[in-house]
Formats: sequence, structure tokens, C-alpha cells
Amino acid sequence: MPRPIHATIHPAAVRANLERARRAAPDARVWAVVKADAYGHGIERVFDALRAADGFALLDLDEARRLRALGWRGPILLLEGAFEARDLELCSRLQLAHVVHCDAQIDWLSAHKTQAPHRVFLKMNSGMNRLGFTPQRFRAAWARLSALPQVDEIALMTHFSDADGARGIAHQLAAFQEATRDLDGERCICNSAALLRHGLQAEVRLDWVRAGIALYGSAPDHPERTAADWQLQPAMTLASRLIAVQQLAAGDSVGYGSRFVAPAAMRIGVVACGYADGYPRHAPDGTPVLVDGVRTQLVGRVSMDMLAVDLTPVPQADIGSRVTLWGRDAGGALLSIDEVAQAAGTIGYELMCALAPRVPVAVD
Ligand code: PLP
Repeated sequence: MPRPIHATIHPAAVRANLERARRAAPDARVWAVVKADAYGHGIERVFDALRAADGFALLDLDEARRLRALGWRGPILLLEGAFEARDLELCSRLQLAHVVHCDAQIDWLSAHKTQAPHRVFLKMNSGMNRLGFTPQRFRAAWARLSALPQVDEIALMTHFSDADGARGIAHQLAAFQEATRDLDGERCICNSAALLRHGLQAEVRLDWVRAGIALYGSAPDHPERTAADWQLQPAMTLASRLIAVQQLAAGDSVGYGSRFVAPAAMRIGVVACGYADGYPRHAPDGTPVLVDGVRTQLVGRVSMDMLAVDLTPVPQADIGSRVTLWGRDAGGALLSIDEVAQAAGTIGYELMCALAPRVPVAVD
């Protein structure tokens, strides 16, 4: 009998989330962002569900190769562009559009010998201060690129730092609009938070949106809005079973460091899931967990292979009972990955990307 932990990927949810993204930004074309192996879901597992996207956006040349091997002939965008000059050769061969965010990448392009001209997405640093040309230097970069025979199409993009938060997008949007006012080219600025919140405005959704986390059923701005509020469906379930039950007396503790001390007699269940499976070690007592579809909570420190849960709300639970760490319980109950992430002081993005290779994954 294998260890009872497993993850399930739900392609029907991914498909529905893509449709949801389209409705949020009508008429915009959608890049399905599948970097980090489709945010931990597995590119091959979600590919069919995302075939209806207009293109795939990612960082890694190897992931681009995998998409081509799956038969995808449509657009692929490298979100960080080339990391060194010789990457451009593969961009040509695999017909990848690529971001250009710095002068070195333009130098590489100008020295690159290619038969097929490149489609590039020129990136503006409108306030995130990671990648891109400042609004003041953007026009000069555009002029350099448009003079290159190696380039036949220049799209214009930027990335928001606060689309999911109180600061919002207005200041970056204004900087982008001002610096690109009379430049030709398609435009692409929205991530999931921006497209869900502002995609109905034509001047924000523009020609393309880049949908990442929304496709996987997590709310970019949790807890202000939940995935259910945005009508997004969870695309990953992490489930396991109880492998032991302990009866504690008042004052007994659970696990390493004796972090949780029973305030009264209680039953606890031991779950085959630990931080080596990708569950966050820093999750505190009280982090929600479902047992047999009933909501209960983590007690005690998460160890490498196990964690413990309070069985008080599920007195019938015993060895073999179903445990849902996040996602959809077999009986239909839901536990949002965002709630677990919030309890653990992180975000849904991190939990899905951290699913460990040792966890067997099925597709339903
Ligand atoms: N565009 C860029 C440049 C990104 O780096 C990311 C992800 O970090 C996205 C789009 C997608 O963001 P989200 O997953 O929040 O939709």
C-alpha cells in the first residue's frame, strides 16, 4: 500500500477559469501563464484545458520545448526574454516571442543572425523596478529595436506591482499610457488581479492579458476577494488520510517542540502529509483542514512526513478517514488553498508551486 497522500489536478476547473478570465476581459487575447510548470500543476496536465488560450507565457526554454512537443503551434512568450545571446537561436527555432527588458538583450538581437524575424514584447518598468526600461528610456529602446532587421513586430508591455492591493494600478497605467502614446504596437499589461478587477475597461485590458493564478483557481487578492467571489474553481487538491489516532489528556502535547498543549481531553488524528510533501511547516495551530469533508484544524508543529489535526468536530473519524489539505474533498466540500496560505502567512501561488515531487499526482 503506497503512502496515502496524493494530489489531483482538475482540468475542467482550469478550462472554466480560462473562460472566466475571458469574460473578465472581453475581446482581449489571453496569454495562459504556465511558468513554474504551470504553477506546480504540470504543463502536460493542464495543456488540453488551456488549448483555447491565444498563447502560452513562461520563462523557461525547456518548458517552451515541452509545449512544442505537445503539438502547440501557436504563440509562446518568454516573459523574461533571453538570458544570454545564444538563447535567441532557440527562440528562432521554436518561434518564440520574447520580452526585451534591457539594452544587453537588444545588443544580442542586433548581433543575431536569423532567417525569421523576431516578435518582441518591449517591457516598461512603470514602477515595479524589477525588469524593463523606465518611461524616460522606453522610446529610445523602441527606436533601437524598430531599426533592427531581426525584429518585425514590437508589442508594448508592463507589469503591475500592486494590482492586487490598495495602491492599485492607476499610477503605473498613467506612466505606461503617457510613454507609449504615439507608439505603434499591441499592448499587454494585465496580470490576473488587474484583469479581474479592471478588465471590463478597454483602456486597461488592451490587446492581450496575462492570466496566471486565476487559471489555477486562486484569488490574487485574497482575502479581500475570495476565489469563490471571483467565480474561480480550484484546480489542485492535496489529499491524504489519517494514519493514526491519539487520545490526549488535558496537558498532553503534540509533535516537535510541544507547541500545542491539549486544553482538555481530546482526540487527534495523524495525517500522512508533512513539509516534505509541500505543506507549509510554518502553518500555525488553527490552520484549516478537512477530515471526512468536515472542517477542523491543525494542531502542533508540522513535521517532515506528518501533521496532526483536532478530531473534536469529527468524532467518527478514524484511521483511513479522508483528509483534504486544500482543494475539493471527495464529498464535495471545499477548502480554498488561499485560506490555508493565509493562515500560514503565505500566498496560494507559493503553496501550489511547492508541491513536492514525491507526491503522486492524478488528473481527474
Ligand atoms: N506577467 C508577468 C510578467 C508575470 O511575472 C506574472 C506572474 O508573476 C504574470 C504575468 C501572471 O501573474 P498572475 O499569476 O498574478 O496572474
